[in-house]
Amino acid sequence: MYNDDTCVPITDSPCSTAGYPAYVIEAETVADVQAGIKFAYQTGVRLIVKGTGHDAPGHSAGAGSLSIWTHLLRGINVTRHASLAAKHDAVASVKLGAGMVWGDIYTEMAKANLTVIGGADPHVGVGGWTQGSGHGPISSYYGLGADQVLEMEVITADGEHRIINSASYSDLFWAMRGGGPSTYAVMLPMTVKAYPQLQGVQYVYKYNFTGSSDAFWNFVAVFSSRLPRLSEQGGMGYYYLVPNSGPSNDGGVVEGSFLFPNKSQVAAQTLTQSLERALSESCRATGSINFGSEYFNFSSFMRFWSSTNGPESVGKDTRYGSWLMDGPALTHNTTKLRDTLRATGPWIWIGHLVAGPGVRNAKPVGGSDAVLPAWRKAYVHLRRSHPQGTYVYKLIIFFSYDPDVDSPEQHGKGT
Ligand SMILES: Cc1cc2nc3c(=O)[nH]c(=O)nc-3n(C[C@H](O)[C@H](O)[C@H](O)COP(=O)(O)OP(=O)(O)OC[C@H]3O[C@@H](n4cnc5c(N)ncnc54)[C@H](O)[C@@H]3O)c2cc1C
Repeated sequence: MYNDDTCVPITDSPCSTAGYPAYVIEAETVADVQAGIKFAYQTGVRLIVKGTGHDAPGHSAGAGSLSIWTHLLRGINVTRHASLAAKHDAVASVKLGAGMVWGDIYTEMAKANLTVIGGADPHVGVGGWTQGSGHGPISSYYGLGADQVLEMEVITADGEHRIINSASYSDLFWAMRGGGPSTYAVMLPMTVKAYPQLQGVQYVYKYNFTGSSDAFWNFVAVFSSRLPRLSEQGGMGYYYLVPNSGPSNDGGVVEGSFLFPNKSQVAAQTLTQSLERALSESCRATGSINFGSEYFNFSSFMRFWSSTNGPESVGKDTRYGSWLMDGPALTHNTTKLRDTLRATGPWIWIGHLVAGPGVRNAKPVGGSDAVLPAWRKAYVHLRRSHPQGTYVYKLIIFFSYDPDVDSPEQHGKGT
């Protein structure tokens, strides 16, 4: 799937070697990166940058190119009470090597009793994620990835090593935060905000709807229309809209998990029960619904997420389509919403309730960054995906949490 069908070491997926670079630099130093840029400049060989290879359309691969691979540029350095961090409502700053992936960072942050904003998948890297804006499980609380950056080190196309921030090369600093990866410079370490350890509750749910196909999509529209309210009340997370496939095509499942940072289980339950009541009422006349849910308390979000979420598998052949959904799109014309979602046939929808208040109210360094303005009004990043693969894997993750890894005494089960 990643890198546009360029071979990954999986035998059951079609792939091609056509996208392989001709030359690869395993960069370990600033000088290695500079040498790569100089070589590309002098020879005209196409230059690409690769961290993890998670770029689905293949921007980090390229036939016959020179690839600068950043994976070996490691490092996590915490500075507590850093003045720049304090000025931006954070308790520490953390300098992250360009080759770091979120799973490693979360583990280290848990040990340091701090929280950073990163992606959902532990194998996604900081380079592409941050420059592409970067959403994650708690971005609704603290803002997007690009909003967290205090400073970056970069190598620009002239081969110069520059430190960029709101005072130095502020235009480049603005663009590198959400303006699209691999566009302006090669990113070396970046320094981001860190917040105190975060406690809260996760609600894992499965709503099994047994009415007709028409009624299922009505139900989906009602569920979707409740999301802005849930987000404003402090809920965030992920959901899957899964119509049944089979001879009758009736019914379907809505499932996923929502997080409630800094809330007690009682407070979270009040919100989720209100959601479940509204959903129950909405389908009283058209079908029945079974609610299955569980609540997990966490005392350290970093520890909780890294112990419950593994990497998604690679090698699936798919194309995504994705949309940012704001309040009116989710609530104003639910008939249109229903028909649009339904029109995708057997595909499922993966909803990321990852924007809302934290993204709207984020205060990037320097007052703004290059994040697409539509993010500030959105609640949901909605993605269409093939029924297999991602979906199945995520559910295994959601239902395999071992309460012993995080505050067993606080773990409670719902119904
Ligand atoms: C399984 C999976 C889960 C995902 N989960 C999330 C998620 O939760 N939230 C989210 O927002 N996104 C998510 N994404 C999308 C992901 O953030 C993007 O694909 C991102 O671009 C990946 O960045 P990378 O550095 O890991 O990947 P790469 O493929 O290595 O790079 C992606 C792009 O960034 C460029 N790039 C990488 N490093 C640098 C650098 N140091 N300097 C300059 N350019 C660089 C590359 O050239 C390429 O254009 C996910 C993707 C996958 C495949």
